[in-house]
Amino acid sequence: MDLLPLNVTTTESTRPTIIAGPCSAESEEQVLETAHRLARQGVRLFRAGIWKPRTKPGGFEGIGFVGLDWLKRVKQETGMLLATEVATEEHVRQALQAGVDILWVGARTTVNPFAVQEIADALHGTDVPVLVKNPVNPDLELWIGALERIHRAGIRRLGAIHRGFSSGGKSKYRNEPMWSIPMELKRRIPGLPIFCDPSHIGGNRELIEPLVRKGTGLGFEGLLIESHCRPETAWSDASQQLVPEKLGEILRRLDDSMAETDDDPLDDLRHRIDAIDEQLLELLSRRMKISDEIGVYKKEHDLPVVQPSRLGEVIEHRINVGCELDLNPRFVRGILMKIHGESVRLQKTAGRGEL
Ligand code: PEP
Ligand code: MN
Repeated sequence: MDLLPLNVTTTESTRPTIIAGPCSAESEEQVLETAHRLARQGVRLFRAGIWKPRTKPGGFEGIGFVGLDWLKRVKQETGMLLATEVATEEHVRQALQAGVDILWVGARTTVNPFAVQEIADALHGTDVPVLVKNPVNPDLELWIGALERIHRAGIRRLGAIHRGFSSGGKSKYRNEPMWSIPMELKRRIPGLPIFCDPSHIGGNRELIEPLVRKGTGLGFEGLLIESHCRPETAWSDASQQLVPEKLGEILRRLDDSMAETDDDPLDDLRHRIDAIDEQLLELLSRRMKISDEIGVYKKEHDLPVVQPSRLGEVIEHRINVGCELDLNPRFVRGILMKIHGESVRLQKTAGRGEL
């Protein structure tokens, strides 16, 4: 994919590009106060949602058109560049007319090729930078498909935003990071800048700093972070927003830690391995929880923990899948026997929550 640099910052800093601002524009006063306080922390790119796709009706669906005038004031008074989410052709038209500098496509829009195509058609003939969030579900092809649609419309200043994935399981994250997926996107589209969105991955302001460290450690080029002048009263995503001054502290600590690390050419490969190992462990943990549920069921129905015919079938099937993925059959068997052994051990103590 031929791409051009996003060209949205003028600083020489090695720090990733930071876009920060409230989840939603709520009032002129809230937008301007947040923007001025962020500008004092050195933030140069301001985000605010004007149109908010909500999972259920009845929530705050965005202030709409009027909020664009507040964003214009942010630009006049602070010189910050502006970023907002667009989900329809009309949003693209209004945002561009108001002088918004960066558009992003939200996770609930990326899942729908019709909606992405409508946006792509509206972008034809413009050269605004566009960032595409991952779809809600962990589907790399759908994410790439959305990027391709926007690229085909002639947009060359293109980037992606990793905001985590719905997994249905219990987790400390609002959206599972599944780091290996954005890392694979990096491999599939070299040169595509990827932003990490720790706010929507974490869902909780306490998780922002560790996620910022993780994302920058993995070599993400940018960060999209929600910041609000009074987070506890925010009309959307209150628990994950930070006051600008707290964000400033996190960014200064990030600068300090980046100044300490030197560039080792093995770092990139090691980070990729780290991300995959983490995901393997997440998957193993999910698998063991299901084993525990099976254990409870077997106990209630007086069934034996080990059922040899099922074990034989499982191993044979997995070895075939492994061969198709170029894995050595002895290696696959060894891993599966280990996993099975642990599963049996857990089923014997099922429901007691023991480790
Ligand atoms: C947002 O950035 O406020 C937002 C709605 O995010 P997402 O599309 O990732 O849910
Ligand atoms: Mn939000």
